[in-house]
Amino acid sequence: MPKAVHHVVKRPGRTLDEPDVEIPVAEDLATVPGIPQREDDVAFYSRVYPLETQNIEKAADREWVWTVYSEEVFKYREEHDERNEPLVHAASYSGDLEPTAEPVVGKNITEDVRQKARELGFGEVGFTRYNRRYTYVSKKHWVKYEHAICIALEQDYTQTQTIPSLEAEFAHFGTYETEGALALELAEYIRGLGYHAQIHSPNDNSAAYIPMFVAAGLGQLGANGQLLSPHFGSRARLMIITTDGPVTYDSPIDYGIHNFCQKCQVCVNRCPGRALEKQKVWWRGAEKNKLIYERCRPVMARYEGCAVCMKVCPVQRYGMKPVMEHYVETGEVLGKGTDNLEGYSLSDKGYFGPGQLPHFDRAFFDIPHGRKEDWLFEQFKQRLEREGVPDTEQVLEFAGKVKKILDEGNSTRGDE
Ligand code: SF4
Ligand code: SF4
Repeated sequence: MPKAVHHVVKRPGRTLDEPDVEIPVAEDLATVPGIPQREDDVAFYSRVYPLETQNIEKAADREWVWTVYSEEVFKYREEHDERNEPLVHAASYSGDLEPTAEPVVGKNITEDVRQKARELGFGEVGFTRYNRRYTYVSKKHWVKYEHAICIALEQDYTQTQTIPSLEAEFAHFGTYETEGALALELAEYIRGLGYHAQIHSPNDNSAAYIPMFVAAGLGQLGANGQLLSPHFGSRARLMIITTDGPVTYDSPIDYGIHNFCQKCQVCVNRCPGRALEKQKVWWRGAEKNKLIYERCRPVMARYEGCAVCMKVCPVQRYGMKPVMEHYVETGEVLGKGTDNLEGYSLSDKGYFGPGQLPHFDRAFFDIPHGRKEDWLFEQFKQRLEREGVPDTEQVLEFAGKVKKILDEGNSTRGDE
């Protein structure tokens, strides 16, 4: 017997040419628009334990990944970084560029910008306050403008279904390259309307972007830790442009995902690293499934970015509308338990169908932790315990390595 529908969400089509979609949310899936949140806790954590980018906080393992990449991935990442560097650089000073025209007094630019972004190919576009509670410490003084334009660019469908593979990495990093270039165009357009536009690169993030995308109504947080948006789930790359132009904010939406993920759990069950947690916890003021970074990273590094949690998500695979309609009709999760949705192959281990997972020994998860100097100190400490007091040469060697990190700055090659 079909389930009762609590409400229907109406969203624009995937492209400008496609019709609007209507997504039914079953009564037992309805919770709150956006994400269950305690504002006071969000404020407390951002004040006392502000966020920092993984490029700094996790710099040790982000350097280490390059030592375990396959030859092909290493080469491709180097090429990507080379192509991407000018885009990241252009984004970094984009906020300083002056508008190129006088603004039309009293005109709100929301719909002009939305239309332009969609013409450029962005699949989701939303407006909200740039919430400084999610800004990384190292970017606090860089962020200039108060309104956030949240934009998501879809990643190729076919290539993504081959996850984990080099082919899928072409889609992943290729989308970043396209997005970085399109953002320059959109920012230029905003300056032409008479306002500033600062590009927050998807490869040099200024903040945790997902909470702002949720606030702008573009999706909800999935159990895989990714934004699930209506048309492509998490098969998209996210970025933000901030502006001082007059805009109208969108509102968060309840797509039913918060409860749906608890019933689905496909990503949780299929994660090769067992890095996804079944139960939600309250974390920094929001109720969510929390990913265990240290169990994910070793898999990502050795298996072409892994992303099995993106590949096996029915919302990514079939779209939110069919998934939610199927749930209303049957009470089931579309595709769950099928090889089509849940199957994947790991290069050296073969194929894993529903219910099957690879095994890794303990050493597999033994990776460097923390900032580069944290890891250096940890290694020095272990050596001290093993070999006793170091000689002058060893101390000087340690000091030299610390100095090198300080000189280089404690960051890595950019967000992935
Ligand atoms: S990327 Fe792979 S290892 Fe990491 S959470 Fe997703 S499925 Fe698990
Ligand atoms: S696979 Fe299922 S549980 Fe995981 S994010 Fe997608 S819908 Fe949620």
